[in-house]
Amino acid sequence: MKRLWAPWRMEYILDTTKHGTCLFCDISKKGKGKAIDAADKKNLILHRGKHCFVMLNKYPYNSGHLMVVPYIHTSSFDGLSDAVLCDIIKTVRNSVDTLKKILSPDGFNMGLNFGKVAGAGMESHMHKHIVPRWTGDTDSMPIISETRVMPEHLKKTYSKLRRAFALMQQE
Ligand SMILES: [Zn+2]
Repeated sequence: MKRLWAPWRMEYILDTTKHGTCLFCDISKKGKGKAIDAADKKNLILHRGKHCFVMLNKYPYNSGHLMVVPYIHTSSFDGLSDAVLCDIIKTVRNSVDTLKKILSPDGFNMGLNFGKVAGAGMESHMHKHIVPRWTGDTDSMPIISETRVMPEHLKKTYSKLRRAFALMQQE
């Protein structure tokens, strides 16, 4: 249960050391248009907004673990304008609404980790974590993170959330 508040330590550690570049910048450049393309689907991007995008965490702590990521490469709030900050928080709100609708969680953890010491796996590019929580889920979490049930599970969650995000944009 110690991992409860630093679930994202594992995120992308392998990927970043492998490529030596910023994975978020890399991912955000792949799908240029507003519409979600094949690359976005592969990278689990759910939504592209004006200043930030939403993606599913490939190494989730819980089902529906999302990240809201600004397009601007910055390790903290530095360099983010009011417009960008506003877009991030509105996107967080919409993401929470979407998760509520689709996965009916009982609560949420939302966090920002600045610096390696704080547990940031991708410390050079800030991102906001949104982790849905269910009553009693702490019991099943170590199992989830250790067995990595993920691939099929992730795809299903992605499809469900993807549809919901698309609908939300039309509203
Ligand atoms: Zn970056």
